Amino acid sequence: MLLELTEESVADEARALQARYGNLEPLDIIELAIDHLFNEEIAVVSSFGAESSVLLHLIARVDRATPVLFLDTGKHFPATLRYRDDLIADLGMTDVHNIHPLQQSLKQEDPYGAMSMTDKDRCCYLRKVEPMARAVAPYRAWMTGRKQFQAATRTALPVFEAVGERIRINPLAHWNSADLKAYMIENHLPPHPLVAEGYLSIGCMPCTQPVRDGEDARSGRWVGSDKTECGIHLTGLTDQLSNISLTDSNL
Ligand code: SF4
Repeated sequence: MLLELTEESVADEARALQARYGNLEPLDIIELAIDHLFNEEIAVVSSFGAESSVLLHLIARVDRATPVLFLDTGKHFPATLRYRDDLIADLGMTDVHNIHPLQQSLKQEDPYGAMSMTDKDRCCYLRKVEPMARAVAPYRAWMTGRKQFQAATRTALPVFEAVGERIRINPLAHWNSADLKAYMIENHLPPHPLVAEGYLSIGCMPCTQPVRDGEDARSGRWVGSDKTECGIHLTGLTDQLSNISLTDSNL
């Protein structure tokens, strides 16, 4: 069935899902996606960042066996890795995949691990975009924790969107900072430890800084460059996915 899908038909599917279900509450969207729309063909991608506990907790309420995909770039804060392990244990998620960059590519292109200082786009490609494409390729759909309020570039973010021949779902697209905070308090979810130090959006250590009061939550990412996204949410992922065979043994 998957092989019969085309980018056009999936784009139509995403538009139809958005029109019909785009205004549901996050838990309803997740239930719909896991139990009905994409049963056993759906995963969640988590950065285990500042607010990641909210989406993971909602998903754990529906199905703890939902695959959790984490891009282990090799450049995360040690606190993020500890937070990942603690949160997974607390929530009882049973199918966690740590996805690594291709060692051969790093050996050839970034042997000293310093590419983030010289070519951030290529570094993100090697450490995020290519691994992300490998990670999501076996699924029909995946969920993310992206929200409209996070940045000026995300204000029109839909709940359902097409990425090539797959569907990306953003169940929290409409929630704001207060919604997230209330959910975390109500459900006793532990914050990422770096939030207390002013890190409101947490990615790789070399490219993440704390933000000042009132600043866009993502303004601490790639400070000093024009970069606002790592590429996994942009067209690079679509291009990469279209190059990956669904039966690729690397997946
Ligand atoms: Fe490299 Fe920085 Fe991108 Fe991480 S966020 S992959 S360190 S450029």
